[in-house]
Amino acid sequence: MKKISLLGATGSIGLQTIDIITANPEDFQLVALSAGRNIDKTREIIKQLKPALVSVQDAKDAQVLQQEFPTSTFTYGAEGLVEVATHPDTTVLVNAVLGSVGLASTLAAIKMSKTIAIANKETLVTAGHLVMAAAKQYNAPILPVDSEHSALFQAMNGENPKNISRLIITASGGSFRDKTRDELIGVTVKDALNHPNWSMGAKITIDSATMMNKGLEVIEAHVLFDMPYDDIDVVLHRESIIHSMVEFDDTSVIAQLGTPDMRVPIQYALTYPNRIPLQGGKRLNLAEIGKLHFEEMNFKRYKALQLAYDAGRTGGTILTAMNAANEAAVAAFLRGEISFLAIDEMIERIMHEHSTIAQPDLETILAVDSETRKRVADMIK
Ligand code: NDP
Ligand code: MG
Repeated sequence: MKKISLLGATGSIGLQTIDIITANPEDFQLVALSAGRNIDKTREIIKQLKPALVSVQDAKDAQVLQQEFPTSTFTYGAEGLVEVATHPDTTVLVNAVLGSVGLASTLAAIKMSKTIAIANKETLVTAGHLVMAAAKQYNAPILPVDSEHSALFQAMNGENPKNISRLIITASGGSFRDKTRDELIGVTVKDALNHPNWSMGAKITIDSATMMNKGLEVIEAHVLFDMPYDDIDVVLHRESIIHSMVEFDDTSVIAQLGTPDMRVPIQYALTYPNRIPLQGGKRLNLAEIGKLHFEEMNFKRYKALQLAYDAGRTGGTILTAMNAANEAAVAAFLRGEISFLAIDEMIERIMHEHSTIAQPDLETILAVDSETRKRVADMIK
C-alpha cells in the first residue's frame, strides 16, 4: 500500500491521479491533498477518499471546509502546500500543482526522502539544479509523470546511461500546428485551448500552442537525465503515439508507444518498477492508425522553443526569468489582456533584459521569479 500526498488534486493531472487511486484501493491510499480554488471538486474528493489533511489556496475556504468535514484537518496557502507534501504518513508525493509555486513543497518533501512523482515541470525548469542536488543528498527518487519523460525513463530502463547518445522528444505541434506565424495574428483563447490530441489544463495547452511546453520539456529532460542540450532533439509527430525515444551509441533507438492517455505515465510513476492494468485503457492498434508522421522542428515558427534552448544553454537565473515570464504572459493571455503572439515576444524581452546569475540559491530564484512577474505586469500596463 503506497500512501500518497497529492498537490493540485483538482487539476487535470490531479483528477486523473484520483482516478488511479480510486481504481486501485488495495494499492494506494490518499493521505493528503492540495487544491486551489475549486472547492466543489475538493468537497467531492474529500467525500470519496477522506484524506487526513487538505490544503486550499485561501484561508476562508479552509475554514468553511473544516466545519463541513470535522474529521479531516484543513490548512491553506503556500505553507499548506508544504504541509501536504511533507505529511508524516506519506511515502509518495505526486506534485501536479501548476507553476513554480510547487518548488518549496517539492524541496521540503525531498528533504524527508519521500519519492517524488513530478508532473510540475516548472519546478524543474526554475530550480532543476537545486532539486536534483537535494534528491541525491537525501536519496529521494524523482519519477517523471510528463509523458515524454516517462517514455525516456522507460526506454532507458536497464541500460547503461553512458551508452545514451541522444534523447528525441516528440511534439504534437499543439492547437496551431497547421498555421504559419503570420496566421497567428488575432487568434482567440478559445482557438488556442483546442488541442488536437490531449485534454489538459489551460496553461499547458497554451504552452503547447506556443511550443514553450516542448521548450520546458527539453530543459526538464536535461535536468532529469543529465544530457547536454546538443544531444536533446525535438521532432514534430502529429499523432502523439510515440511518446519519445532514446538513441544509443550503436545507433539503436528505443521508443515508448501507446494511445495518448496521461493515466499511463501517472500510474507508471506510482507503480514503478512494477506495472498494473490500466482501468479502461485503450490498447494501441497500429494497423488501425496506419501511418505515423514526423517533421523537423521550425525554430522560427516556434520562437519559444528556441528561447528555451537558449535559456537552457545559458543556465542559472535566466531559466527562472524565462519560466516566470511565460507563466505571467500565459495567464495574461488567458485573461484576454495580451495577444497570443505577445506571449513569446514578452519572454524574449525579459530574457534580453536579464543578467543571469549562475548556480543561484533558493532565495535568489524566488526573488527573480517575483521580480519577473512584476516586470511582465508593468509591460502589460
Ligand atoms: P490544471 O490547471 O488543470 O491544475 C492545476 C492544479 O493546481 C489545480 O488543482 C489548481 O487548483 C492548482 N493550483 C493552481 N494554482 C495554484 C496555486 N497558486 N496554489 C495552489 N494550488 C494551485 O493543470 P494541469 O493538471 O494541466 O497541470 C499541472 C502540472 O502538470 C503543470 O506543471 C503541467 O505542466 C504538468 N503537466 C500536465 C499535463 C496534463 O496532461 N495536464 C501533462 C504533463 C505535465 P484549482 O483548480 O482548485 O484552483
Ligand atoms: Mg509532456
